[in-house]
Amino acid sequence: MSKVAHYLQEHVVGEVMTGADARRYFATDASIFTLTPAIIVYPRSENDVRKTARFTWQLAERGRVIAITARGSGTDQSGAALGGGILVVFPAHMHRILEFDGKSGDVTVEPGINYGKLQQTLNTHSRFLPPYPASLEYSTIGGAVANNAGGERSTKYGSTREYVKRLRVVLANGEVIETSRLNRRELNKKLGLNSMEGEVYRQLDALIDENHDIVQQSVLPVTKNAAGYALADVKRKDGSFDLTPLLVGSQGTLGLVTEVTLETVTHNPVTTLIAAFIDDIKSAQAVITELKALPHPPAAIEMVDGHLLDFVQVHNPTLLKGIIEPPFQKLALFIEFDNANDRVQKRMAKRTLKVLEHANATYKIESDTDQKEQLWKVREAAAAILAHQESGAKPLPIIEDGVVPLERFEEFLEGVYSLFNLYHLPVSVWGHAGNANLHVQPLLDLGQVGDRQKMFKLLEEYYALVMRLGGSTTGEHGDGRLRAPFLEQLYGPEVYSLFKQVKQIFDPYGTLNPGVKIGVTLDDIKPLMRQEYNLAHLYDHMPHN
Ligand SMILES: Cc1cc2nc3c(=O)[nH]c(=O)nc-3n(C[C@H](O)[C@H](O)[C@H](O)COP(=O)(O)OP(=O)(O)OC[C@H]3O[C@@H](n4cnc5c(N)ncnc54)[C@H](O)[C@@H]3O)c2cc1C
Repeated sequence: MSKVAHYLQEHVVGEVMTGADARRYFATDASIFTLTPAIIVYPRSENDVRKTARFTWQLAERGRVIAITARGSGTDQSGAALGGGILVVFPAHMHRILEFDGKSGDVTVEPGINYGKLQQTLNTHSRFLPPYPASLEYSTIGGAVANNAGGERSTKYGSTREYVKRLRVVLANGEVIETSRLNRRELNKKLGLNSMEGEVYRQLDALIDENHDIVQQSVLPVTKNAAGYALADVKRKDGSFDLTPLLVGSQGTLGLVTEVTLETVTHNPVTTLIAAFIDDIKSAQAVITELKALPHPPAAIEMVDGHLLDFVQVHNPTLLKGIIEPPFQKLALFIEFDNANDRVQKRMAKRTLKVLEHANATYKIESDTDQKEQLWKVREAAAAILAHQESGAKPLPIIEDGVVPLERFEEFLEGVYSLFNLYHLPVSVWGHAGNANLHVQPLLDLGQVGDRQKMFKLLEEYYALVMRLGGSTTGEHGDGRLRAPFLEQLYGPEVYSLFKQVKQIFDPYGTLNPGVKIGVTLDDIKPLMRQEYNLAHLYDHMPHN
């Protein structure tokens, strides 16, 4: 065991591991990359996290930089849950609900809590956290906060950032701060602090004031975004200031989260679900646009395409049996209303049927729980794609999360089809139609040189397509290592320069999750690619989509 590991073992209460098995286990997440950590720490409390960060800071002051990477359940598809230094693994011990306020619905948790378990608990109080990812059963709140996760309800309810009210965060030097929205007087107090916290507030406040126009340019015209740093909502017109939106989505590159307070929403399990089948993508775009303009828009507008259904029909026909029959239309939309007022819900569903009839769509409408579950199974059939394998080729998460302005939905989908056609790859698309945030995973073999070359061509052309359409490279999965090389191209040099300065303010020695988001090139990530892709960390669970 190294001296660093020894020191940590002596000073933290949680376990410290350096064994080959543990290091191998944590050398992958759900991305195409691999990076073996040197040391694994399972913090028992915030104090352990604080001590670990403090120690790496002291080493960095003496010129020895050891990376410190936070880890939830490792379902990250961008390679952001990997690190070559110290991996701080939260789910083992820091997984408690600390407080639930029955009146406001606010809940305070430790970051390692399983998202699905928290959701179940909230449901028993008739509350829920709306931006839950499809991976909720096997991922943590800390990971969702760090990635600004979203999901099927984000079309109505938005992404994680909108629900995080307060954070406790360990800074790079081990200092612990609490973030929330501050008024001018409270901000002034922070600006006067003689500590790293004070330094962060002073430098960030000046950066935002001096670059007002560039900060505004950092807002992309999409309905959800997990790329870059969310600088625009830190300082508001009224002078209030909050580090929380910036830390959400920062993928552990600005600090380690040790406590999260989240706003929750009333949960109504009584919903109306409409499955609609449309053979024209332009009409589908018009339908989605009209539904989003309803006075009470749907809680979900999800989709799978006809290619996906064809694929399932060939490889797993029982999944669709008795629910829908071939030939399949180009798109299947899943539109769900969850309004608390039953009359409103019914009225909105009725209006939706009119919109669908006008678009020549066929549909099924259900409010019975079992029948709804059957229909949702069609959307969930996307999991069959993820589990598929053809000799060494597997569906790879490399271009899986683009998002564009809704009015470019059709161009986006057609563009994806053309790209896959060009490279003679089978294509299936699914995702969050209400956000024009589409998921697609090409079937490639990481062990084959030819496929790796194809992969990089696809990467460049797909992200160029997304940017040409005014979109973002990632709606909910984050930049990580995978998309970091495209960040400057996405935002332009001025905004990117601000991002670099933000990183420098929070992390002057580069100890916090280096190689993620900022300062990464394609040449940096090529050597990190795995030879064989698998989702080993998810084997305890059904792989959702
Ligand atoms: C099959 C599949 C489906 C998915 N579906 C969705 C989806 O619908 N929507 C979606 O948004 N995502 C989805 N994802 C991506 C991923 O599951 C989510 O982003 C999830 O929220 C990550 O949580 P995790 O616990 O696995 O985090 P990890 O993978 O462990 O970490 C993710 C990031 O969070 C950071 N992090 C973790 N804990 C902390 C902490 N305490 N402090 C600071 N940083 C921290 C890590 O450093 C890393 O950068 C999917 C992934 C898979 C494999």
